[in-house]
Amino acid sequence: MDDISHILNQLGEDREHYYNAVSPPVIQTSNFCFPTVQAMRENINREFDIPFYTRGNNPTVAILRKKLAALEGTEDALVTSSGCAAITAAVMSNLKAGDHAICIKNPYSWTDTLFNTILAKYGVRVSMTDGVNPMELGSLICEETKLIYLESPNSFTFELQDLTSVASFAKAKKIITVIDNSYSTPLYQQPLSYGIDIVIHSASKYLGGHSDLVAGVICGKQEMIKKIFDAEFMTFGGIISPHDAWLLMRGLRTLPVRMQKISENAAKVTSFLEQHPMIKKVLYPHLPSHPQYGLAKRQMKGSGGLFSFLLREESTEKIDVFCDSLQRFLLACSWGGYESLVFPASVLYSSGNNNKKNIPVNLIRMYIGLEDAGLLIADISKALEKMKNT
Ligand SMILES: *Cc1c(COP(=O)(O)O)cnc(C)c1O
Repeated sequence: MDDISHILNQLGEDREHYYNAVSPPVIQTSNFCFPTVQAMRENINREFDIPFYTRGNNPTVAILRKKLAALEGTEDALVTSSGCAAITAAVMSNLKAGDHAICIKNPYSWTDTLFNTILAKYGVRVSMTDGVNPMELGSLICEETKLIYLESPNSFTFELQDLTSVASFAKAKKIITVIDNSYSTPLYQQPLSYGIDIVIHSASKYLGGHSDLVAGVICGKQEMIKKIFDAEFMTFGGIISPHDAWLLMRGLRTLPVRMQKISENAAKVTSFLEQHPMIKKVLYPHLPSHPQYGLAKRQMKGSGGLFSFLLREESTEKIDVFCDSLQRFLLACSWGGYESLVFPASVLYSSGNNNKKNIPVNLIRMYIGLEDAGLLIADISKALEKMKNT
């Protein structure tokens, strides 16, 4: 097992091939040429391993593939233009008309669209379940079930699935398991070690870490990765550009220090919120009050910077005052960067947005970045006072 600093600083980097530059070059090219027809003929079907055309293989992206696979403890990885490109390629590669799939309730919103709108068009039947009770999830399995899709925890209400249990009954029935591991990063949860087959990340979050790129990752056994590469990956064409791959690699170098600081900050902010009289409940896997705290401790090493809380206040006007009063949190979606963010669920109740209607209006999702925790806490405290006094 490679140690993490070796993966981040060395693995995949052949510096003698590019003038001993410390930082790898951005190989900004669409295609690659060959000295002879024979050489071209030999390489045309080896795109998985050899640069031929950048939609398939690019040397800058190839370095990243090695690092991401090693971080997840998997044989190989593919990097995509977004987390959603990774999810669609991996899921569609393992389903066909007539199949049945199981997906956890309240997944990332576009994952929900994939399972509940798009797959239906191709004759795939889908069951949704909250996944908290593995037996309940197991009871949905039928003859046609070919894929189970997990997100543990999900990124709004933070329910977990017991990965070992789900993987064991899926394996017994030869069902492929896929997990969106964006919340935990490979540092805090390695789903393959529990028997999960495919691990997905939105690299737009922690892996990139600087809110300056959109990318995704698919990790798994080489046979599975090759199967996805040979059909969906090459055909859907959702590839990362060499430049974004370079940015992602640059962000990845500092993943462990960022995660450490972010987790320390979030621990301070969540314990402040938990004791505050205006807060009803904090949803964060590594708080002892989380209903699945034991499972979180067992299968995750940490919980990072993303959590939600329920205000006792339920008036949207007052909740808006709270969020508008925060000076050190940007009002924005996404998360995983250096900057703290706030996302009030009431935004989801705006016109025409039917997603996630089961999320209570007094739920606030927060993401804690690299700022000083004391300043963030003071800011929240002031904004709560302001809400109270309106
Ligand atoms: C953001 C996100 C995605 C989608 O990733 P993109 O890179 O935005 O396509 C998927 N899953 C989770 C949990 C996310 O937060």
